[in-house]
Amino acid sequence: MSGSKCTRLSGALVKQLLDSVDSVLFDCDGVIWRGDQAIPGAPQVINLLKENGKKVFFVTNNSSKTRKMYADKMSMLGFDVKEEEVFGTAYCSAMYLKTVCKLEGKVYLIGSNAMKQELEAVGIQQTGVGPDHISGKQADWANVPLDPEVKAVVVGFDEHFSYMKLNRALQYLTQQGCLFVGTNRDTRLPLEGGKAVPGTGCLLQAVETAAQRQAQTVGKPNHFMFDCVASQFGVDRDRCLMVGDRLDTDIMLGSNCGLKTLLTLTGVSTVADAEAHQKSGCAERQGMVPDYYVESIADLLPALQG
Ligand code: PLP
Ligand code: CA
Repeated sequence: MSGSKCTRLSGALVKQLLDSVDSVLFDCDGVIWRGDQAIPGAPQVINLLKENGKKVFFVTNNSSKTRKMYADKMSMLGFDVKEEEVFGTAYCSAMYLKTVCKLEGKVYLIGSNAMKQELEAVGIQQTGVGPDHISGKQADWANVPLDPEVKAVVVGFDEHFSYMKLNRALQYLTQQGCLFVGTNRDTRLPLEGGKAVPGTGCLLQAVETAAQRQAQTVGKPNHFMFDCVASQFGVDRDRCLMVGDRLDTDIMLGSNCGLKTLLTLTGVSTVADAEAHQKSGCAERQGMVPDYYVESIADLLPALQG
């Protein structure tokens, strides 16, 4: 294939690229859907890839849903997807604690009910899900009751994030041997009309600042998400394509794992962002330059229908 990076993917090049891969990893938000709506043409692209014998997987940094919840959402939107093909950070964090950390003990969870469910599915108990209101006097906050079985603090997306949760995390993290894991570092969640809300990265940084420790993160661009897919489905990285809308998470993950990379312009990053990385001359930033880009993954349709 062509040696230069950040090439617009069109015409005969689409088929050439698809012929060179057996597996395709798709980021979700900004690639196959935006919020609650499918990107036009995305369900057909996914379903046709499968009909053409490709293995298709979904890797999302969003920790607010279980694999089952994603599979249900995707079916509603017209995607032919099985739960086992979905790798979200709620599931992958549970796998990380179980298989990499070999955690023996409970988790203090700053996160969603979905994360609680994925932890429990691998046999890990948690405490902390739901609101945690301030109580007592400030002088007593450093002595809040702690669960002696907790051996890890895990931070994911938590709409009930609060000062007391931050404090409790700090108290656990100052204990000897307490693990510290974050789902992902996305700092902003883009909404329609150029608006945005704070992402999990903001919560994680607050906990890191309080605890004066750095967390291990599971989500993209960490290779663990790919390792999870590869170990379960035997993916050949030389014949695998990563499709995403963010350079610092999706494209970087692809580069970290030696995959081919495709940026789609229906989400966060632009071609100008990619070109700025390319022209910077900075070696680390070259991992954020995709091999190819498309306006939308619907641009893959003609090659799949032909
Ligand atoms: N984290 C949260 C809480 C989100 O809501 C989203 C997008 O909706 C993301 C992360 C980014 O998800 P993805 O990796 O699918 O783009
Ligand atoms: Ca995305």
